[in-house]
Parts: sequence; C-alpha cells; structure tokens
Amino acid sequence: QPRARTPLMAGNWKMNPKTLREAESLAALVAAADRAQGGSATRGCDVLVCPPAPFLPAVAAVLAGSSVKLGAQNVSHEPSGAFTGEMSLAQAVSVGCDFALVGHSERRELFHETDVLVGDKTRAILDAGLAPVICVGESKAQYDAGLVRDVCATQLHGALRDVSTEELERGKIVIAYEPVWAIGTGLTATPAIAQSVHAFIRGWIEDAHGPMAAAATRIQYGGSVKPDSVDELMRCPDVDGCLVGGASLNADHFSRIFGFD
Ligand code: PGA
Repeated sequence: QPRARTPLMAGNWKMNPKTLREAESLAALVAAADRAQGGSATRGCDVLVCPPAPFLPAVAAVLAGSSVKLGAQNVSHEPSGAFTGEMSLAQAVSVGCDFALVGHSERRELFHETDVLVGDKTRAILDAGLAPVICVGESKAQYDAGLVRDVCATQLHGALRDVSTEELERGKIVIAYEPVWAIGTGLTATPAIAQSVHAFIRGWIEDAHGPMAAAATRIQYGGSVKPDSVDELMRCPDVDGCLVGGASLNADHFSRIFGFD
C-alpha cells in the first residue's frame, strides 16, 4: 500500500556537538549516506537535521548538494531588536533553514514555554516561509493519569491557534508526537501506543480543519527511536516519520533510521 504522505526523518542534535568540527563531520556523514541512498526522491523520505544555532551556516555548507534539509531547534517570534541571546526567523532563513522545531518538551519544561508562546512562534515560522515541526506530548504523570488525549488536544489547540485550514491543507505543518517519558529514556512508545495517539491527533485536525488538512499533515513520532525500533513504528499508517535525538548523533544509526524498510 503506497504511503499517504512522504515521511520526514529529523535529527535533533540538541546541545550535544561540542565543536564546529564535530558538527561538520556528522553533517558530512549524513550527507554521504543520503547520497548513497539516492537522495530523498529515490528513497521516498525526507531527511532533516537540526544542529545547534552557531553551527547552522557551516552545516548548511556541508549539506549543499545533498537532499538533507536544515532546521533550527528554536527561534524567536520577535522580528528583531533587543532580545539578547535569541535567534530571529530572518536570521534562520538567511543561513538556509527550511524548518524550525517549536514546542519541544525541553523548551516547555526547562525554558517555561507556554502554549501561547508556541502558537506565536508557529505563526511567525509560517510567516517567515519555514515549516514548523510542532512537538506535543504528555509527561509520565499525565500518561499514568490517562490524560494523553487531553494534553495533546490542549497543546494542538495552542500551537495551531492562528494557523489556517489552507496552510494545513498545503502540508506546511509537521506535528511531532513525543511522549516526554520516552525522550532520552530508552523507553520507546509501542507501535500500538504511537498509532493510537497519532490517529487521535489526525482526528483532532480533521475535526478542527477538515479531512484535507488531516490527510496532508505529517505526524512524526519521537522518543528513543533507534535503528531497531524504526521499522515497526514506520509500519503504523499514521506515523509519517520520526524525530530522533540520541540516535541522530551517530551517522550510522541515523542513516539506518532514514533508510528504514
Ligand atoms: P531521543 O530524543 O531520541 O533522544 O529520545 C527525541 C527528542 O527529544 O526529540
């Protein structure tokens, strides 16, 4: 059965690569693996890497000539001005970003990002012509309390507050379902859990924006995705790719993930 949507496999390097050299060598290995697989058109899957902000221009240069896309891990929704330490969308565009992550649980928890801010950032990302990867997902306590759907619905509502049906129908928005208890813990959600939450998210989009918007939106799974768990996850009909942290820091592991069967 043909896939309804082109999968998107994204590597979130977080604050891990220590030096410019380390980031450039990782990017070079990812670009080489992408070329060896014939690029996104042959493989039928898109690949994205999100390096730390200072390394974006150098990684963009290394990726040139491959089909691997570049993303920012975090952006400001403010256009410019006195915001010490922030990166604007114009800056992200000017160094070659195509995507920006928004609402990652580490941003929500450690940097107190609210649903309102996630909505503002999503709007600004779209206005800048980039594609947002909007992360949603429940904590362990929320999972145990049976609140998975409530949490995802609230976070989707906040993030998509100012997004139009037409933008969703154009497939510009990516959602990443990342249960917080699965991030960096080695506890991957089972394919059954992932499929049921992904189907819920797609249903939520359909209720709010209609069937075309729901069918066009890629929904990634994230949380301890490894080469040996990716195939099963990717067999779920509503899993349209993965957002990969730890395993994306090893080019061999990441290329096995984006070369999934
Ligand atoms: P992980 O991180 O793959 O290391 O669990 C996923 C993420 O935070 O995006």
